[in-house]
Amino acid sequence: MTQPCLHARTQVIAHDENGEFVECLDCKEIFELSELEESEPKEDLSDA
Ligand SMILES: [Zn+2]
Repeated sequence: MTQPCLHARTQVIAHDENGEFVECLDCKEIFELSELEESEPKEDLSDA
């Protein structure tokens, strides 16, 4: 059985014009920080 990692603890290892790359301290997986943020529900603030 493998437990899904929540990537709760991350550290920034690199960054470029597209965003920051972070490494999970728990599972050692590397991904873009923006990918994590996209998983969160977005609020529509288009009504200015
Ligand atoms: Zn992880």
